[in-house]
Amino acid sequence: MIAQVIVDIANSQVDKVFDYILTQNAQIGSRVIVPFGKLKIEGIVIGIKEKSDLPLEKLKPIIRLVEEDTALTTEMISLMGYMVQKYHIPRALALRQFLPSEMRKGKVRAKLVRYATLSNTDFSQIKKTATARLSALNYLKEKGKTPMPTLNEKFGSSAVKALVEQGYISVSEERVNRQPYASLQEKGKSVTYSQEQQNAIDTFLKTDKQITLLHGVTGSGKTEVYLNLIEKTIASGKTVIMAVPEISLTPQLLSQLRSRFKENVSILHSGLSAGEKFDEWWRLRSGESKIAIGARSVIFAPLENLGLIVIDEQHDPSYDSETSPRYSTIEIAEFRAKYNGAKIIMGSATPSVGDYLKATNGEYELIKMQKRINKSQMPEIIIADMRAEVKKGNPSPYSSVLKAELQDCLDNGNQAIIFLNRRGYSKQIICQSCGYVAKCEQCDISLNYHSDTNILKCHYCGQNYAMLSACPECGGVNLKYSGTGTQRVVEELKKLFPLARIIRMDNDVTLTKEAHSKILNTFASHQADILVGTQMIAKGHDFPNCTLVGILDADMSLFFSDYRSQERTFQLLTQVAGRSGRADKKGKVVLQTYAPSNEVLRLSSKYDYEKFYQREIDLRKVSGFPPFANIIRIMVESDTEEEGIETLKNVYFESKDIYEENKDEFLFFNKMKSPVKRIKRKFRYQVLMRLKCGNDDILNKFYQIATKYNGKTLVYVEVNPNSLV
Ligand code: ADP
Ligand code: ZN
Repeated sequence: MIAQVIVDIANSQVDKVFDYILTQNAQIGSRVIVPFGKLKIEGIVIGIKEKSDLPLEKLKPIIRLVEEDTALTTEMISLMGYMVQKYHIPRALALRQFLPSEMRKGKVRAKLVRYATLSNTDFSQIKKTATARLSALNYLKEKGKTPMPTLNEKFGSSAVKALVEQGYISVSEERVNRQPYASLQEKGKSVTYSQEQQNAIDTFLKTDKQITLLHGVTGSGKTEVYLNLIEKTIASGKTVIMAVPEISLTPQLLSQLRSRFKENVSILHSGLSAGEKFDEWWRLRSGESKIAIGARSVIFAPLENLGLIVIDEQHDPSYDSETSPRYSTIEIAEFRAKYNGAKIIMGSATPSVGDYLKATNGEYELIKMQKRINKSQMPEIIIADMRAEVKKGNPSPYSSVLKAELQDCLDNGNQAIIFLNRRGYSKQIICQSCGYVAKCEQCDISLNYHSDTNILKCHYCGQNYAMLSACPECGGVNLKYSGTGTQRVVEELKKLFPLARIIRMDNDVTLTKEAHSKILNTFASHQADILVGTQMIAKGHDFPNCTLVGILDADMSLFFSDYRSQERTFQLLTQVAGRSGRADKKGKVVLQTYAPSNEVLRLSSKYDYEKFYQREIDLRKVSGFPPFANIIRIMVESDTEEEGIETLKNVYFESKDIYEENKDEFLFFNKMKSPVKRIKRKFRYQVLMRLKCGNDDILNKFYQIATKYNGKTLVYVEVNPNSLV
């Protein structure tokens, strides 16, 4: 028999299926070591057949199995096929997603522990003076099977060794699992469902639709709905995947899952040690655990017989992979749901507008939860006009209303969160006197300031504009480039409230494995009064004592040069505001802005998602942005400018032919330097276009061009990338 093997080299030149002579009981999905040229490398068996097209004497046999158990399921092999076709990636790269990275190249293996058991209970032959040996035997008699290291430690290894040699103790090896978050407190409470929760559960169980969108305001109790559905799925003998945006930020959710489902839960995420990941992964693969929870990549969990996929905070940008392989978690979820006949529930207080369109179209089931649990009110949002503060001569990052509210909150023994609206490379120009923001005349999208060249640039059409010396609306000269630094925000806060305990959470201070949960736990257990942070604190946390959220520079993200910036802002503000007043205490939010009359801010301050959605979807329709068109970018990244320009030319001319042949299908097409010309020492160029929907055949041609020129100079296609830097 012949094994068809994909070798673990993610390179388009060796992106083929190779034939080997089947040996060693290899199965479809087995990891094997095979000869490859002069090398021995790892591969995966993806098929078995009777005969090869090559003569038998040309084929080499499989050298050995990497492990007895079959690593991949047949579903994974199909999923590989889907990803190769959809994302135009080498097969090996798709397969790599299905295995913890440390498992490849044999960097980690099962942890084995040696156990001692008593094999002879007649101790009469042992001398009375051999006290260590006698005590060891009596200990074993009383306690039963004991790990050898324990026994050695207690009674000395020479005594134990002698007992093994004399046949009193027999030794066996057993696999033990390294469990992450072993210290996790199990927290569980039983609740009576609200009417909306019960309705959500019932509706989900009844619907025939594969995907359900659960649109529930923050604090409406979506988690309980997921937990209930997970429980039902497990009870019916099926398995579950639950994806969350950032697992290290959700210790509370992990506690709940552990307490409900015990060892049926496996946690997969990049912060685990290699050994923990390996063991959690195999527990899922072997069927020992039935629920996989993790961030984006958990969607590849090796579960069979999937019944349910939960995607929490479904609007979160982290669900789209921005590096190779560029996949969408929801697309992979759909594949797996179809394959297994499973259902998907995805929830959010602010669904992505593209998905909400599908829900209102009837493509997805739509369930709404509009009330907070225990009838607690949505926090009141106060808009603070920062232009007025500038006029009053207040230079601090804090408006007078936020200062007063903070004082009040601390006086009452409550907690506050200060949120800084910050992201990536974007820098836009805002007039501090009138709130004017510089925008592209053609695209109506805010311009980005490039300090190296002192120009303003549109990331969607490449148009350059001269930097402004004064505001064209009001003539003011207080033009600001970006928000206030975290450092300054904290320092000012310490000056204002010298007695308050302030902690900070952002990328600079939270690099270590459990640092996130430590900071969050400190705040949750009220060992700090004010938490200052960026995007990371916006998500899903439940702090019952937090009654105030201050949002500095609420408008910063509004004007990021991104077609989704309004949507992102609405989502972010709603999420952050949702951290306030979640328990029985009433919450407040102070939203500081230079554009207080901005429609998106006004709608978010009223929690009016429906109106926001309607406005946004209409805008997208008339301006031809997703979901009504696709933004496609072919990126060229090179070590030198010459190579980059050379490759860009080739890519551009071939793409242009396609564009010329299908002009009517395009809304925009051009080549240009990327907005950020160099990242990580690579020169960056791009062909940027907007293509009407339903043109997958055209899209595929661009993928083929990218594959053709991809090599030393990196060439790849992005579809609706989250950022256009
Ligand atoms: P969401 O995810 O919708 O923002 P959560 O699921 O975090 O909301 O729920 C908010 C809070 O309400 C949590 O503290 C949760 O434990 C609590 N909760 C949820 N359902 C109920 C219920 N039926 N009765 C009492 N408390 C509940
Ligand atoms: Zn433009």
